[in-house]
Amino acid sequence: MREYAARMGVSVEVLASGSRGNSTIVQSSTTRLLVDAGISCRETFKRMKAAGSDPHSLSAILITHEHTDHVSGLLVLARKLKIPVFMTGATHQAWARAMRDADGERPQLDRLEFFSSGRGFRIGDIEVTPFTIPHDAVDPVGFTFRAEGIKIAIATDLGRLLANVKDNLRACDVLVIESNHDLEMLRNGPYPWSVKQRVGSPTGHLSNEKLAEFFATGYDGNASYIVLAHLSEQNNHPERALREAEKALSGRRTLWGNRVLLAAQTEPLQPIRF
Ligand SMILES: [Zn+2]
Ligand SMILES: [Zn+2]
Repeated sequence: MREYAARMGVSVEVLASGSRGNSTIVQSSTTRLLVDAGISCRETFKRMKAAGSDPHSLSAILITHEHTDHVSGLLVLARKLKIPVFMTGATHQAWARAMRDADGERPQLDRLEFFSSGRGFRIGDIEVTPFTIPHDAVDPVGFTFRAEGIKIAIATDLGRLLANVKDNLRACDVLVIESNHDLEMLRNGPYPWSVKQRVGSPTGHLSNEKLAEFFATGYDGNASYIVLAHLSEQNNHPERALREAEKALSGRRTLWGNRVLLAAQTEPLQPIRF
């Protein structure tokens, strides 16, 4: 078993990405983390099993923020797997409040661990660093993960790339980053005005254009893989997001690697392995 585990190495697998549910597996040789639980337990199990991995081998669940598309499967998953759930205290409060039953009873998680943004911690052999992101939730975070010399960042649900976020995105091998909407499609799209405002606000979601600007000017070019994530189904096209990102990156001829992949809502992305 140990020998088998030793060959697994570090990998990232986006199980689902988008406004109908987000969930990603980050693993080292010995530790397997589920980042966000935004699809149902049943669907999470189904997608993991299809990829040949056993859901019961998960070590912990980490939550970025309390929006439904990041927590809808949390309670059932945590109860079924009996593994610790990590989130900030404020996110837990907001989640528990939203999950109250008819009698006002809040759901209990048997194994709950709190973390604070900016303070790193360890789960197994994975070093986790949560960092604050500008988004309209109570205490939203992105994460970096370090294990076996590989650094992975997950940053979605953020209206813009502030300096602290850019700092955390430095020297990554895998960058899972939001490319939510195309500005023109959002402007001309079907959403009511107030929703357009929210999505496009500095605490909303990152546009293809803002991401391209980062790739062209603020990005260190270190990643072997860039995963475009949390694409809007209404206000973006995968081809558009991909084209924008590749155009911005190709303007920087010094960059090696930086293969751009697209995370999807309805099917998992092929695991990225090291
Ligand atoms: Zn989201
Ligand atoms: Zn959100």
